[in-house]
Amino acid sequence: MSNSTKYIFVTGGVASSLGKGIIAASLAKLLQARGYSTTIQKLDPYINIDPGTLNPYEHGECYVTDDGAETDLDLGHYERFLNVSTSQANNVTTGRIYQSVINKERQGAYLGKTVQVIPHITNEIKDNIQSLSKDGEYDIVITEIGGTVGDIESLPYVEALRQMRWEFADDCIVIHLTLVPYLQAAGELKTKPTQHAVKQLLELGVQPDILCCRTEHKLDLELRKKIAQFCNVVPEAVIEAMDAPTIYDVPLMMQEEELDEIVLKRLGLSRKSQPDLTSWNSFLHNLKNPTSEITIGLVGKYVELKDSYKSINEAFIHGGTANLCKVNIEWIHSEKITKANAKEILGDLDGILVAPGFGSRGITGKINAVQYARENNVPFLGICLGMQCAVIEFARNVMGWEDAHTAEISPEAKRPVISLMEEQKTVSDMGGTMRLGQYKCELKPNSNIYEAYNTEVIKERHRHRFEFNSAYLDDFKKSGMKATGFNPDTGLVEVVEVEDHPWFVGVQFHPEYKSTVDNPHPLFTSFVKAIMNNKNK
Ligand code: GLN
Repeated sequence: MSNSTKYIFVTGGVASSLGKGIIAASLAKLLQARGYSTTIQKLDPYINIDPGTLNPYEHGECYVTDDGAETDLDLGHYERFLNVSTSQANNVTTGRIYQSVINKERQGAYLGKTVQVIPHITNEIKDNIQSLSKDGEYDIVITEIGGTVGDIESLPYVEALRQMRWEFADDCIVIHLTLVPYLQAAGELKTKPTQHAVKQLLELGVQPDILCCRTEHKLDLELRKKIAQFCNVVPEAVIEAMDAPTIYDVPLMMQEEELDEIVLKRLGLSRKSQPDLTSWNSFLHNLKNPTSEITIGLVGKYVELKDSYKSINEAFIHGGTANLCKVNIEWIHSEKITKANAKEILGDLDGILVAPGFGSRGITGKINAVQYARENNVPFLGICLGMQCAVIEFARNVMGWEDAHTAEISPEAKRPVISLMEEQKTVSDMGGTMRLGQYKCELKPNSNIYEAYNTEVIKERHRHRFEFNSAYLDDFKKSGMKATGFNPDTGLVEVVEVEDHPWFVGVQFHPEYKSTVDNPHPLFTSFVKAIMNNKNK
């Protein structure tokens, strides 16, 4: 076995949304389970520096890493599958590439040369791919190229990959994900779109090594041979990727198809060890054999696009599975909830989660949902803006401070119970300027949060500008809302809880980003458990 890092590229053809991220994460899981240290990187062809400034309707959830990078939601899949933290280096956008090249140009780094897409942009891309495995930290780097091959904007990435394949020869392979549609009228699976997708890649100088074919029906041997023949690959390199019951089934389906076998063979890596998927299999077994069931209302303003709350959804799958409990999520539009209809909309739920968010749209409905949960003893979890709404609701309806609000929406509020963080007061740029990434938090004993984590100091990820206004801490405490988690360095309130309630927790941080298959997040596990207990009462 050679000592050099191996590179696997995952590209997509025919259509978008074929699930490159899940295929990449599944392959990484299989390779990791064979003992290869593996990481995954996503290259996004848009001009934004990061998705932090994108509306979730555009791009789904913005995922945040330990180091405070605002990234593509596929990084969430990578972490959930691999149980390894990612960082800024795992997500590169065209904006970031160009920014770096332009900065270098201004510094005079190109010594009078004309700065061009080839070689300067492509070199920057290649550097970003290779720097991920500095000092040979990883045996294998999987790089997923966003978008569809043939799009103008992804051309420099495909060119960079073409060059790397040439430079790295046998240490670099390409997996192309395509679609094999079924035509009902003809009663047939059609291979032509795949042939054309490969042709398009060939026009750019790239021969794929493996084809992953998304399909709703099984690919028989004849069909695989046909695809192989037209696309210059061996039939074993035509991998069937059927629609899966859950994303967590995909690694096993890929193992069944021997995707990992052919990858290792092509890279000249040993196939002696078999993947150890013991813990993965036991998770899947528990996921599919629940002994109880609960329904949680997820109250948010982007619920039409469920990808906006991807990590929360997955964290409930992990936390539910840890309790052998099937968690149904009812997606509830915050704009629809009024005080008058709250019972009608929320009355049948076993638990309520108020989601993170920004801006005024839907905030009144969120506050109404909190009130309903608090007054009706429904277990409640508020995340970030959800926690801030819980504070506003408590101030208004328990403490009688009708004018309490967050400074985000009402900068002139007489009682800004949620206020702008000091360090934010001089910030004017929108991109990458929030309080981002992982910070410590100290938990107070005898609290739901302490019970959940069972430890005094935790680290969680953040993405916000506003905070609990500590000037009012004593007033809240006297009225029955206590702060049970603080940042040890700044004193910032990270957790609030309502006493005399079955389970009411609001957290300023985002626990959902750190839940993985191997490590279901303790807060989600505890929330589900509290709901089950409350239901059984
Ligand atoms: N908008 C709020 C803030 O900036 C909450 C952010 C969030 O929910 N991620 O503090």
